[in-house]
Amino acid sequence: MTTQETLVKNVTRKVLEKLGSAGGSDTESAYESVDEAAETAVKAQRAWQWDFLLEERIRIINNMRAELLDDKIIEELSVMAMEETGMGRADDKIIKKRLSIEKTPGPEFFRVNAITGDHGLALEELSPFGVIASITPSTNPVASVFNNTICMISGGNGVVFAPHPGAIASTRKTIEYVGRALEKHGAPRGLVVTLTKPSMENLKLLMAHKSIRMISATGGPAVVKAALSSGKPAIGAGPGNPPVLVDETANLRKAARDVMLGCSFDNNLTCTAEKELFAVNCVADELKKYMLEDGLVFELKHREDIEKLMSVTLKDGAPDKSMVGKNPQYILSKIGIKIPENVRIILIETSENHPFVQEEMLMPILPMVRVADFKEGLAASLRAEHGYRHSALIHSTNINHMSEMARAMETTIFTKNAPSFAAIGYGGDCPTAFTIATTTGQGPTTPLSFCRTRRCVLFGSFRIV
Ligand code: NAD
Repeated sequence: MTTQETLVKNVTRKVLEKLGSAGGSDTESAYESVDEAAETAVKAQRAWQWDFLLEERIRIINNMRAELLDDKIIEELSVMAMEETGMGRADDKIIKKRLSIEKTPGPEFFRVNAITGDHGLALEELSPFGVIASITPSTNPVASVFNNTICMISGGNGVVFAPHPGAIASTRKTIEYVGRALEKHGAPRGLVVTLTKPSMENLKLLMAHKSIRMISATGGPAVVKAALSSGKPAIGAGPGNPPVLVDETANLRKAARDVMLGCSFDNNLTCTAEKELFAVNCVADELKKYMLEDGLVFELKHREDIEKLMSVTLKDGAPDKSMVGKNPQYILSKIGIKIPENVRIILIETSENHPFVQEEMLMPILPMVRVADFKEGLAASLRAEHGYRHSALIHSTNINHMSEMARAMETTIFTKNAPSFAAIGYGGDCPTAFTIATTTGQGPTTPLSFCRTRRCVLFGSFRIV
């Protein structure tokens, strides 16, 4: 597109905006047919890749962020996701949405690699894959869509979302807002669409569709396996079971607070959240005292109560889905225990082989295990993480412990002396990612994760030194 054409297009868009005919409620973004969804996205993606200047894409994405950062939209989607899935905490969901809109990296993240030498110049640029099928989890339906959309379209891609069957309405509503904001600022209609019937059959059709050039799978082991078996480039963002280790050198008051905050965030739904606590024996009592002192943590002490809790939260040894992401008050009410409204976490002291330690419960239940020393805590953390290489944490001031654990865990994310959410940009100096590519190794995803590198070589010229 020439500069002249761009100018005309911009003026036309502005006029249409003024007339109120760009965007609006007629945005089409949800499709029953896989074919229709994919073909719509392909048409829009081609225009997005070829007809838009980079400067325009940046402007449109920035404007989309600004439109979505509307308290009413964020609140509506947070409450909707909570009501539809029955999981999480609305206040924390609001934080997640704001984070994903504000701190997901955009087109500015790209750098061109230029290599010059005796033989001329080679340029390496990042290019879109095309249209990406993004399969999203029930535990984080809205923020995943915001996060994936910004990363994927920043790279010049289009997206067909396949929501979790339990989160279709909130995902659809989110995509409606995204599509409307994009269109309003001039993006091609249909750049980001969703399936209305994400049945297993449709998911297979989508992944195999000739126009889908990449699969992004965020969820449990089954979806990651399906994406990796598709024969297409894939992002596999799988499960985790993040251990947190508190050693004898930690700032215990801060550790107690950080573990409580990280573990209870959105009722522990976040894959990065602290799932089990290993505390070095000589500081375990003091740590527990600090955890309990402000009333936000409730300790379940009696063996019979813990057994009752197991009976309502586990089914055939695995987490009972009906209890995932529920409030501690709701979970304990199922065993006849009433706790104050402000409690965020149920603490139980247990042993390493307890299912609450070994299973990814995704509930605001924190199992605490005493270990003799750092070495024993590290070994237990490695066992509890199950080689997912997802996330792990330490609270310590011993740099040797911090360093040894970071190296040994080999996790995608390792956090020291902070709540787990620092690593997804909340209070930490890093961009936000809600698709943490553990299995396929891209790490916390950015626009770069959804692009391929292309090299262009000019022989003999353009070296200027
Ligand atoms: P889930 O695996 O049940 O569902 C995730 C998505 O995969 C859904 O859209 C579902 O429809 C689809 N799916 C499930 N099985 C499939 C199959 N065989 N073929 C194709 N698609 C399939 O997960 P969930 O309960 O919605 O989410 C929780 C899980 O996701 C936890 O294990 C959590 O750790 C993980 N998670 C990981 C990340 C990450 O970034 N690594 C982020 C969020 C959640």
